[in-house]
Amino acid sequence: MNGTDNKNITNPEGKSKNFIYEIIDEDLKTNKWGGKVHTRFPPEPNGYLHIGHAKSICLNYGIARDYKGKFNLRFDDTNPEKEEQEYVDSIIEDVKWLGGDFEDRILYGSDYFEQMYMWAVELIKKGKAYVCDLNADEIRQTRGTLTEPGKESPYRNRSVEENLDLLDRMRKGEFPNGSKTLRAKIDMSSPNINLRDPIMYRIVHEVHHRQGSDWCIYPTYDWAHGNEDSIEGITHSICTLEFENHRPLYDWFLDQLGVHHPQQIEFARLNLSYTVMSKRRLLQLVKEGYVDGWDDPRMPTISGYRRRGYTPESIRNFAEIIGVAKRDALTDIALLEYSIRDDLNKRANRVMAVLKPLKVVITNYVGEEELDAVNNPENPDAGSRKIPFSNELFIEQSDFMENPPKGFHRLVPGGEVRLRYAYIIKCEEVIKNDNGDVIELRCTYDSDTKSGSGSSNKKVKGVIHWVSAKHSFDAEVRLYDRLFTVENPGAEEDWLSKLNPNSLEVITNAKLEPSLRNAKPLDKFQFERMGYFCVDTKYSTADKLVFNRTVTLKDSWKK
Ligand code: ATP
Ligand code: MG
Repeated sequence: MNGTDNKNITNPEGKSKNFIYEIIDEDLKTNKWGGKVHTRFPPEPNGYLHIGHAKSICLNYGIARDYKGKFNLRFDDTNPEKEEQEYVDSIIEDVKWLGGDFEDRILYGSDYFEQMYMWAVELIKKGKAYVCDLNADEIRQTRGTLTEPGKESPYRNRSVEENLDLLDRMRKGEFPNGSKTLRAKIDMSSPNINLRDPIMYRIVHEVHHRQGSDWCIYPTYDWAHGNEDSIEGITHSICTLEFENHRPLYDWFLDQLGVHHPQQIEFARLNLSYTVMSKRRLLQLVKEGYVDGWDDPRMPTISGYRRRGYTPESIRNFAEIIGVAKRDALTDIALLEYSIRDDLNKRANRVMAVLKPLKVVITNYVGEEELDAVNNPENPDAGSRKIPFSNELFIEQSDFMENPPKGFHRLVPGGEVRLRYAYIIKCEEVIKNDNGDVIELRCTYDSDTKSGSGSSNKKVKGVIHWVSAKHSFDAEVRLYDRLFTVENPGAEEDWLSKLNPNSLEVITNAKLEPSLRNAKPLDKFQFERMGYFCVDTKYSTADKLVFNRTVTLKDSWKK
């Protein structure tokens, strides 16, 4: 299967679909930005992107697309301790896959280090920044609290000359880590703690993934972020709610410098039920081996969802459905599952695969034949295919019950069931091993009941899927359950203890119909009655295909 067109994003005209669109509409009316709309997605390359980032990408890119503006991908790579090229590469791949079109604008905050340094010098010259010798603990202790003002640093009133000299020597590497910082000189008694002389530069003798050893002072996020937006001419700097209290600081910096001043707009971050979303925790799951890498299909990462069989369209559609809000909430993971189910329903061909096989011998059938099967009833263009039928089949173990409860419409001793696209069969004999397990069923078929062309008008209630034993082939199938057992594991003290021990079930000898033999990594199918499945990119080999269950057919957790 292909057809995941990255550029053709739904809802092209959806203006004013949320409060951010209303702000932009108003800005265009008042010509605030000269008709320009320029957004960005600014990840720190310290992990793989997750579904929350996807929301931010869809929002920021969607705005640029809808207003015919521009969208930048910018790495906020100001912290050399946690950043790696592997993360940069994965982020570029994921943003592209989702359809976020940044054209040729892959930008790096670290490329602006020189400009930021010059601006810091400018603030010192204006008496708005100073070098402080307090260490991190002392700065924390003198910052004050929500109810008490902070204490001014004894180094606050250094002369401009002394500050310029010290900053220059900090940059040249004369001082050890943590021994000095550059701080903005704002107001130690501001009710907003972010304005109490925040740190602009720290000394960190570390190699940077792009800048090498050129720098040993690094800007803090608070100093760097607004500058990066300003340098790139961003008009609407969209971020999550926790930065609302930082906005006055970004405003202060940009106003002191008198440079381009984007408008920051905050929205509620996405939290999804039954998973965690903090990069720190996702990294821990990977590093400590609770999952099989960042792209483990159970992870809420974009690469995990891709490997599991999600499509970019389904994730973009999910982002549309959940919308943009001003208040934090927990979004039901069932909404994401609905979105992928809805998309695959239209695009995935139906095939037959038996996950837990039970052998059926049809004692009165001789020879072989090919039967017609419809590929996708939702898509007339998908056509049909031939599936082989013979006297030995596999059916799902769960489709037979020796002592069925009332209402069980599948196979029972002496009972009848229809084989999808084939005949009605009757169970004549149940064969067991020494332990009493059912290992085979002997059945007869009624040749007048062939699907589509049979002369009999016999009707039975149950229809089950099957494969012909000698035509089928073995594959591994991986079934996934939720990664955590509680709705909001992030809120738990001991969140790791809430991992679901049964989140992965590996079936090594599922029986698949022969048309699947040539399936390629990431091909997507509906296994009739069993769910949507996708060929795994990591473990499939020339000898054995591995399938991931993307999602079940129905919301099996629905109460
Ligand atoms: P951290 O900063 O703690 O490493 P982060 O998740 O904020 O983690 P960033 O790389 O800073 O990671 O995120 C890039 C962008 O994605 C930011 O603009 C941020 O607002 C946005 N973002 C991150 N998490 C979410 C989320 N759960 N929902 C929506 N947007 C998010
Ligand atoms: Mg962040």
